[in-house]
Amino acid sequence: MGILDVAVLGGGISGLTAGFLLHQKGYRVAVLERSERPGGCITTWARDGFLFELGPNTVLNNAFEIDGLCEAAGILGQRLTAAPAAKRRFIVKGGKLVALPGGPLGFLGTSLFSWRAKLRLLGEPFIRPAPPDDEESIARFVRRRLGREMLDYAVGPFVSGVYAGDPERLSIRHATGKIYALERDYGSLIKGAVRKRKGPAPAGGLFSFPRGLAFLPESLAQGLGEGFLTNTAVAAVEKKGDAFLVTAAGRNGSGRTVEARAVVCALPAKAAALALNPLDREFPRLVLDLPYADVALVCMGFRREDVDHPLDGFGFLAPEVEHRFVLGCLFSSSLFPGRAPEGHVALSAFVGGAVHPERASEEEGPLLEKVLADLGPLLGLRGRPVVTRVEAWRPAIPQYNLGHGALKESAARCEQAVPGLYLSGNLLHGVSVGNCIQNATAIAERVQSYLTS
Ligand SMILES: Cc1cc2nc3c(=O)[nH]c(=O)nc-3n(C[C@H](O)[C@H](O)[C@H](O)COP(=O)(O)OP(=O)(O)OC[C@H]3O[C@@H](n4cnc5c(N)ncnc54)[C@H](O)[C@@H]3O)c2cc1C
Repeated sequence: MGILDVAVLGGGISGLTAGFLLHQKGYRVAVLERSERPGGCITTWARDGFLFELGPNTVLNNAFEIDGLCEAAGILGQRLTAAPAAKRRFIVKGGKLVALPGGPLGFLGTSLFSWRAKLRLLGEPFIRPAPPDDEESIARFVRRRLGREMLDYAVGPFVSGVYAGDPERLSIRHATGKIYALERDYGSLIKGAVRKRKGPAPAGGLFSFPRGLAFLPESLAQGLGEGFLTNTAVAAVEKKGDAFLVTAAGRNGSGRTVEARAVVCALPAKAAALALNPLDREFPRLVLDLPYADVALVCMGFRREDVDHPLDGFGFLAPEVEHRFVLGCLFSSSLFPGRAPEGHVALSAFVGGAVHPERASEEEGPLLEKVLADLGPLLGLRGRPVVTRVEAWRPAIPQYNLGHGALKESAARCEQAVPGLYLSGNLLHGVSVGNCIQNATAIAERVQSYLTS
């Protein structure tokens, strides 16, 4: 195939975004993907009229780059926005589902927090910021600024919803940078939320596609045409003069080499460490130690009459202090139309995470029974599911724990030491699909200026 402009390692949403955008600009690009399908974590499964996401369920449209990518791929008009009911989220408290309050009045009236916790929140603007060099965990930061109950019944469950992480270990600065910045820039979260100038923002909201989220990576891969190489497992990247030589293995053990002027690495941590080992000493060593949370997703289809709860919301999150088996459960068929056949509903429960990783490794049968036993009283389950599917992600989501800054600094040094190498993916600057698209778009721009310099 001759020398390429760019070799992109990994065909998840990060690699596909960078590869697709560069291909659109006319560069010769190959995206090398180990498996036989595009999308990495993004994968949709259809069975008997049900449509389940086996990885991410929704994308939050919070950056213009997301609209930009969908428009470039010609699929902007095909997006489905989540039903208004998705704004309602439940938290487990005392064995029941309690809706999270929507505004200040709802906050005053909710039974989710005690009066002490509500009054404690009013004092937040008067609490002094932490010294700048003091890297805090999310748990310590929230206890200090908002109090223990806010950690237990609000922030903790949301951290679990995004990272499946442990707030005692996740870094407030690196895992939830926007919240950290409110204290740094305004001295208080409440003052910051009120004063922060809101720049132009995209329409917002959660979205998917009628055929599920996999439609996004499939459309990008289709746009790449022959530039999307499946069954191609990258083994190593070496420097060859000014260019790079990427060595990969095919499914039947056949070898393949690709030569390119620039390389974008969008691999998970372990594969990135192996591939980049010949190029740099420090980053591969540090990235190998990046912790991940393991998660199992348990998808279940029920007859409508077998679930008492109205399922009038996004789903629920289970605070750690409530000692449930599941981390939370999405009311998938309440989010988008076409997720369950007439007279049925679809639910997706999450299990495991950084605090209980062993649960994500349980055998499918016992795992399903434990999930059903946990959900039964919360949702009023009366019968067995008519469809089930368990998808275990081991590893699932990288954890930006205390000290994550060292990995980011090392990545910056690595890119500087190896001109033409760019580090993308969800390892450094955000794990949501939106973050990955935003970061990969910025990387595509940097690669373009490198290639034209
Ligand atoms: C269960 C789960 C639920 C989630 N829910 C949400 C959600 O609701 N909303 C949201 O915004 N985010 C969610 N996320 C996070 C988000 O989906 C991921 O962070 C994001 O999709 C990661 O994309 P990526 O391209 O960086 O990495 P990946 O998707 O991991 O892609 C990496 C790719 O590299 C390939 N690869 C691995 N080794 C090699 C090799 N040696 N050579 C070539 N290719 C290789 C893999 O096969 C894969 O395709 C969820 C994640 C998980 C696991």
